[in-house]
Amino acid sequence: MKIAVLGSTGSIGRNTLKIARRYGIEVEVLVAGNNTELLRRQIEEFRPRIVVSAQKVPLDAPKVLYGEGAILEALELCEAPLVVNALVGFLGLRPTIKALELGKRVALANKESLVVAGEFLDKSKITPIDSEHFGLWYLLQNRLSSKKLVITASGGAFRDWEVEWLEQATLQDALKHPNWAMGPKITIDSATMVNKLFELLEAYWLFGNRNLDAVIEPTSTIHAIVEHSDGSTTFHASIPDMKLPIAYALGVKNRPILTPVNLLDLRLEFRSIDKRRYPVWALKEDLLARPFMGVVVNAANEAAIKRFIDGNFGFLDIAYSILKAYEKFDRKPATLEDIFALDKEVREYVATL
Ligand code: NDP
Repeated sequence: MKIAVLGSTGSIGRNTLKIARRYGIEVEVLVAGNNTELLRRQIEEFRPRIVVSAQKVPLDAPKVLYGEGAILEALELCEAPLVVNALVGFLGLRPTIKALELGKRVALANKESLVVAGEFLDKSKITPIDSEHFGLWYLLQNRLSSKKLVITASGGAFRDWEVEWLEQATLQDALKHPNWAMGPKITIDSATMVNKLFELLEAYWLFGNRNLDAVIEPTSTIHAIVEHSDGSTTFHASIPDMKLPIAYALGVKNRPILTPVNLLDLRLEFRSIDKRRYPVWALKEDLLARPFMGVVVNAANEAAIKRFIDGNFGFLDIAYSILKAYEKFDRKPATLEDIFALDKEVREYVATL
């Protein structure tokens, strides 16, 4: 089995390579951004045929390409039937589209692809790398009919803060995730709860069910819950470690991947998601009724996060920008090109706020 790993130096990318190393999976393509030092070490170990880097630096591989456009070229040149898309943000959409066009399967960590363009992607060729969707899929194997799908949220960095303090929250505060070690963007998305809105959309596109909800489970041990028609409720639990969904997405199944949860240590509690702490949660019902609005939420979120990181937006401005953009832009993209155009317009709007 050969794979292409896009975003190999990130949190999901590094975990993917751990699974590749452990189970002898060949890595044909590595794509990375600015972390050249780590990319060089990965090249030395995995000897990929094709490497793409955002940085124009010399690298030791048979084919070395540079820049975002080159990611698409690498996909065209490679033989690997499976592409792990662990790029972060809207940047991941074109590679997802290209991989699917080329008839490849996509192990998709880049949830933004589904959030913005779910309607236009062939979901039958996508395996999600997301613990909640893996949990739902696991629970739905060989089951009787299901009524409602529920995913869990950790609550992010501010779940135990006084709501009044959120105005003062800094970037450093937002990056302190209580349970998971993830890239900075998804860590901020957890703090705002945007990540869970995205995951509900992702679940909608993957499972075709609008009866979806989310609750906070502070330990991130329960990832997904299914309410069945007969009144039974089943839970999927595992320690918070992305290697489990990644292994399955790479075709490694029923192997000792993680240590089981220690039941005697488990202290379970569920909390509802409070719209005062997480203002974007007000969009949940409408977004599920009109999932095409995902492109607006995503573009506003990425543009607002950039301003937060640059220091000219407060933490709560991320949510306020999303709510404002959601009101202002209300149109259904008819094509993929419309999605790119709308994304640009929304970003320009958020830059003026
Ligand atoms: P990271 O920020 O850790 O990694 C992002 C990767 O993308 C890095 O390898 C980065 O390279 C690369 N990259 C960024 N810009 C470019 C560019 N212009 N050209 C080429 N490569 C680029 O993110 P995560 O791994 O945390 O997340 C990746 C995706 O997976 C996101 O969509 C996230 O929502 C999703 N996800 C993540 C989970 C997690 O546990 N981390 C869980 C579930 C989903 P470099 O670092 O070298 O600059």
